[in-house]
Amino acid sequence: MRLRNVPGSRETLAASDCCYETPAQLKGRWHEVFGNQNPVRIEIGMGKGRFITQLAFQNPDINYIGIEKYSSVLVRALEKLEEEKPANLRLIRMDAEEIEKIFVPGEVERIYLNFSDPWPKDRHAKRRLTSGAFLKRYEHILRPDGILEFKTDNRMLFDFSLESVKEAGWKLLDYTCDLHHSPMAEGNVMTEYEEKFSSRGNPICKLTAAHPGVR
Ligand code: SAM
Repeated sequence: MRLRNVPGSRETLAASDCCYETPAQLKGRWHEVFGNQNPVRIEIGMGKGRFITQLAFQNPDINYIGIEKYSSVLVRALEKLEEEKPANLRLIRMDAEEIEKIFVPGEVERIYLNFSDPWPKDRHAKRRLTSGAFLKRYEHILRPDGILEFKTDNRMLFDFSLESVKEAGWKLLDYTCDLHHSPMAEGNVMTEYEEKFSSRGNPICKLTAAHPGVR
């Protein structure tokens, strides 16, 4: 998802009190930002933010951080928060390649990846958010009892991701290739893309995996 040329989007984000730009100064200090010791869960590639915003409203005792590469997309999420903003939600504009700049080891309890860009060409496989290179980054910032959750309708990306988590030593906890008709659907929160693709009849795949530290 890329909305090009939203004039002034960077300025809008800079003026917001819940948005940051690669906030390296907050590394290891997220509990100060939220003013509590509650666990921190992040969504990487949050798009317009429907999923993470709904989770934040549902679970006030968990802190949520949505990460998005493009200010033109993030500004849409911010617009939706104008009426009511949950106190336990923050948004960051940055490329997830730099994720270790903003979290110390073990600072994150859960990572959500939803409908990540598939990068279908083999030569771009490293850019997939479930590639070995990204899993290494997640391994560093996630607590040893932390969990990764991934949803997509793209079967090629899903099969790649199943292999990738196993190769990286993560423990595959559960998976389905038809989420909406599986027991894993309990408590499922739909994302914008999930709604769009499932309304076209595409089955949704989901996997959950535990940090390699868990044996
Ligand atoms: N998660 C949302 C959903 O399910 O509706 C949006 C899915 S959209 C296909 C993927 C999003 O991930 C885009 O908004 C894109 O800009 C963002 N993204 C892709 N690569 C990223 C990266 N390396 N770091 C941060 N965000 C990224």
